[in-house]
This record gives sequence, structure tokens and C-alpha cells, in this order.
Amino acid sequence: MKILVIEDELKTSRFLKKGLSEAGYAVDVASDGLEGLHLALELDFDLIILDVMLPALDGWQVLARLREAGRKALVLMLTALDAVHDRVRGFETGADDYLVKPFAFSELLARVRSLLRRVPMRTQETLRMADLEIDLLRHRATRAGRKLELTAKEFLLLSLLARRAGEVLSRTLIAELVWDMNFDSDTNVVDVSVRRLRSKVDDPFPLRLIHTVRGAGYVLEAQP
Ligand code: CA
Repeated sequence: MKILVIEDELKTSRFLKKGLSEAGYAVDVASDGLEGLHLALELDFDLIILDVMLPALDGWQVLARLREAGRKALVLMLTALDAVHDRVRGFETGADDYLVKPFAFSELLARVRSLLRRVPMRTQETLRMADLEIDLLRHRATRAGRKLELTAKEFLLLSLLARRAGEVLSRTLIAELVWDMNFDSDTNVVDVSVRRLRSKVDDPFPLRLIHTVRGAGYVLEAQP
């Protein structure tokens, strides 16, 4: 589960990062609205903890732009004012919950957990290996949170390897399943595509996931 904290008060963001990391979440921090928005648009977060009072862009503007961009990440707003209009505004703009400052960490953690309980239903269709994540519903793949720019066939090929991770898949089988080709077709297309897929999925990262098994085919696994 990945959480983005957008908060300009260093003390608060440090304590949130520490506490949430200890609770087992992967936490990124942004210290102003603009940086936060960029991160939220670029990477995939399950939950965003968003302070209202921020430099550059305030929390409302960040939230509005996120929703305009179609981002569905859950948003927990932090507000210094326990004002009714703030809450109403938050929910109208698409916040999922809010918390009034100052708050106890245990209270925040309880909110975070309860919000994230909604997530498994959305991410059931996600395949994971090491830092590779494949979102089958949205046709998106990321490594270490970075989006991989894949063609439709490359995505299909990667999904096939990931669904059957640890299993060596022959060129013939891959050709059949990804390209609907017969066993006697030219399976060179598989090698070419795997090479291209590797250049995007493996080359920029230290851990290789796609392995060639000589004379047999290809396998996706997290072993070096
Ligand atoms: Ca603030």
C-alpha cells in the first residue's frame, strides 16, 4: 500500500512518514502543493494525506486537479479548522475523509486503515512481483512506482508472464496466447517482443525479472 503525504510542516510530515512506515506502508512525502500534485499524477498511490494549508497550491486546488485528471486515489484531508464549511467543501471536491489538526497518530492510523480497507476490492486485479505491479483493469504497469510505457501486445505479454510467474513458457505457447499464432508460425516475433519488453521492464532497473531459459522459453521470476 502506497501513501503520499503532502504537508509543508516538516515536523508533521516526518512524524507521519515515520509512523506510517513503521505501520508497514510505503510513504512518499511532498512539501508543497505543486510537488505533491506532480507526484500524485506521476506515481500510483492508494491514499493521499493532504494538508489544506500549503504553499504553491493549497490542498483544495491539489484535490480538484487530481479529480479533474481522473485520479481515484483515496484522499484524507488534514485541516486546521474544525469548520463545517471546510468539511462540506472537502466532500464536494471529492475528499474521502478529513481529520482536524492537531490529531493523535493513533487516530490518523485508524482512519488510514479504515480507508484502505476499501482498496483491496479495487486492486484484486493486480499482479505483483518484486517492485513490478501490473494493474489488469487499468492496463497499467509500474516498476518501483514508475509507469512503464508499454504497447498493448507488450502489456499482454508481460501479464501472461506474470500470471504464470515461475513457469517457463515456450515461444510457441507465448505466440499462441499473445498473437493467436499457430505453433508452426515464425516465433521470432516472440524473441523480438521479449527483447523490447526487457528494454522497458528490466534494463532501467537493478533486478532482472524476465529470464531466458535456453532451448525452453521465457520465465518471469524475481531470482537473479
Ligand atoms: Ca500546512
